[in-house]
Amino acid sequence: MRLVLFGPPGAGKGTQATRIKEAFGVVHIATGDIFRANVEGETEVGLEAQEYMDRGELVPDDVVIRMVEARLVQPDAQQGFLLDGFPRTVAQAEALQDFLQRNDRPLDAVVRLVVGEDELFERLAGRQREEGRTDDEAEVVEQRLEEYREKTAPLEEYYRDHGLLVDVDGTGTVDEVSERLLDALRERTGEGSQA
Ligand code: AMP
Repeated sequence: MRLVLFGPPGAGKGTQATRIKEAFGVVHIATGDIFRANVEGETEVGLEAQEYMDRGELVPDDVVIRMVEARLVQPDAQQGFLLDGFPRTVAQAEALQDFLQRNDRPLDAVVRLVVGEDELFERLAGRQREEGRTDDEAEVVEQRLEEYREKTAPLEEYYRDHGLLVDVDGTGTVDEVSERLLDALRERTGEGSQA
C-alpha cells in the first residue's frame, strides 16, 4: 500500500496516521517529524528548515523533495508507506508522481481528511488555550492555515484529476473517523486487516 494523507492543520492527521499504520503495516513517514529531528540534531537540512518552521511557513520544495526521496529508497519503505504532511504543494505532488513512476510504484490512494473551517478554528483555539500559547504562537497557527489554504488545498483537484482522491469526513470521535477512513481504504484497495 502506498498512501498519502492530507488535510488542514488540526484535522487529526497524526492520530489517524497511526491507525492506518497499524491496520495496513506500512511505514509512517511524517515530514514534520523528520524536520523536527533534523532541527534537534542541528543537521544541514535542519538548519535550512528551521527559520521557515518557526514562522509557520512551508520549507522550500527542493529541500523537502530531496529529503522525502532519500527516505523512500530506504529498505523499510519498499513494502508500502503512508506519507503524512507530504506533499503540501502541487510541485511536491508532481515530483512525487515522477519519482514513483520512475520506480514503477504508483500511489494507491490519497486520503483527504475533511473538516470545516469553523470546527478547525474551534479545535485550534482549544489547543491554544490548553497549551497556554502566546500571541506570537497564535500568529504562527494562523500562518500555517494560510499556507494550507493557498498552497496545499489545490492538491484536492490535482489528486481528483489523477483518480486517487478519497475524501473522509474528519468530524466526530477519533474512533468514528478511523472506522470511516479504514473502511474507505479497504473498499478502495481490497487490502488491510479487519478491525
Ligand atoms: P507538521 O508537523 O506536518 O505540521 O510540519 C511542521 C512544519 O514542517 C511545517 O509547518 C513546515 O514548516 C514544515 N513541513 C513539513 N512538511 C512539509 C512539506 N511537505 N513541505 C514544506 N514544509 C513542510
